[in-house]
Amino acid sequence: MGTAADTATAAREQFMHRAITLARRSLAAGGPPVGAVLVRDGAIVAEAQNAVIPQTDVTAHAEMMLLREACRDQRRLHLSGDELYVTVEPCMMCFGACAYAGIASIYFGAPIADLAAITGRELAVDPGVVTKGPALHGGLCGKECSALLSEWQQARNVQSGVAGTTGKQSG
Ligand SMILES: [Zn+2]
Repeated sequence: MGTAADTATAAREQFMHRAITLARRSLAAGGPPVGAVLVRDGAIVAEAQNAVIPQTDVTAHAEMMLLREACRDQRRLHLSGDELYVTVEPCMMCFGACAYAGIASIYFGAPIADLAAITGRELAVDPGVVTKGPALHGGLCGKECSALLSEWQQARNVQSGVAGTTGKQSG
């Protein structure tokens, strides 16, 4: 591995660590631990976390929050060439929104299957069906991101055990 490649990997891990910090905020509030940052020219220009529960909005995934904020702040519909870093593989809705926004690449940590195993209702992108849109790169800080999901699952189990409910707050 050359020095340039090592430097690029270190930078990507740094961006993902910021996304993980945001995911932890959502987790602390009882929500799914998903955080995302938008990177342009090597710098973070927007960041967001899952807000489905606080906003009572099924579309308030971290990536959607991020795109809304970035487009609104910059008053433009295209984020062409930007890179998106998110702790969990994007769902179909978010991947589609990223494609419309012209996002070049998406780097994610945990596979969406890890989240689906908890909520049972994630819509995964089928690479055999989707032939355009951002390039997907998985497994960046993957263990750390998957561990966050396990932490959330445990919290949900404890909560449902205490409250006697079935944990309907997925998303
Ligand atoms: Zn999504």
